[in-house]
Amino acid sequence: MKDIGYYNGRMDALEHMQVPMLDRGCYFGDGIYETVLMSHGTFHDIDRHIDRFYQGTADIFLTVPYTKQQLKELLLWVSSHSEYKEQFIYWQLTRGTALRSHAAKDLSPNLWITITKASLPDFEHTLKLISVEDRRSSYCHIKTLNLLPNILAASQAAQEGCEEAVFVRNGYVTECSHSNIHILKDGVLQTAPADCHILAGIGRFNLICACRNLQIPVLERAFSYEDLLHADEVLLTSTTKICQRADTIDGHHIGGKAISLVKKIQRLLTFSEIASENTPSIS
Ligand code: PMP
Repeated sequence: MKDIGYYNGRMDALEHMQVPMLDRGCYFGDGIYETVLMSHGTFHDIDRHIDRFYQGTADIFLTVPYTKQQLKELLLWVSSHSEYKEQFIYWQLTRGTALRSHAAKDLSPNLWITITKASLPDFEHTLKLISVEDRRSSYCHIKTLNLLPNILAASQAAQEGCEEAVFVRNGYVTECSHSNIHILKDGVLQTAPADCHILAGIGRFNLICACRNLQIPVLERAFSYEDLLHADEVLLTSTTKICQRADTIDGHHIGGKAISLVKKIQRLLTFSEIASENTPSIS
């Protein structure tokens, strides 16, 4: 065999391998990977790569079900089945296989290994570059599959007996791990602007429409953690939550001061198709 795939004890030619759709690596990116270059029997820096892999898994609270030595022996064993003299050894451990739910609990991790052909770089060849702005933490507005920070926050919330985790950036509330968050204060709905730090949720859009419908002014401006603590109501929206009140954050009681207004909004959101009638300015 040349290109090889290994998944939880099963090994075959890479093109014959498949992974379950419910592997959390597929829909959350919930895992850690590493790579090693092998040339002529030498596995370059393998111990350093294994150490970094264990550090990464520990950082995301993922337990590797092998010792470092066992993992190394397994990697060498899978590699030994490939005819390539120079190999690119890739492996990843994902948190497990389960129906899609942000908070993960008691799963058994999945180990993937692939062996493909490597070619050593030609040091005579020099590289051409471009520069780009580092926007790696500015993609919250895109519904990507890379949800590791979200699932870590959701799992922490679940461990602490809570249903959601609220993200705070420089003192301002952005959104939650898998919902948008809004406050009602003095009859005004305030919600973070739909910029690159939040997903412009469909639930958020519907809430804004419902408020417009009910003549409730809407302010699309960031609010602080302090504002949230003192809001009349704190509302979470998402496709599944529709629009739910929150009553606690970090052990502090919040909201509960405009329940009848929230009920009006909820009735409108539950029983009518309002989105087409009103279009929010930003969404
Ligand atoms: N923010 C994040 C990070 C989410 O994952 C979700 C749920 N997809 C939302 C907001 C709410 O989006 P929607 O109302 O479209 O479900």
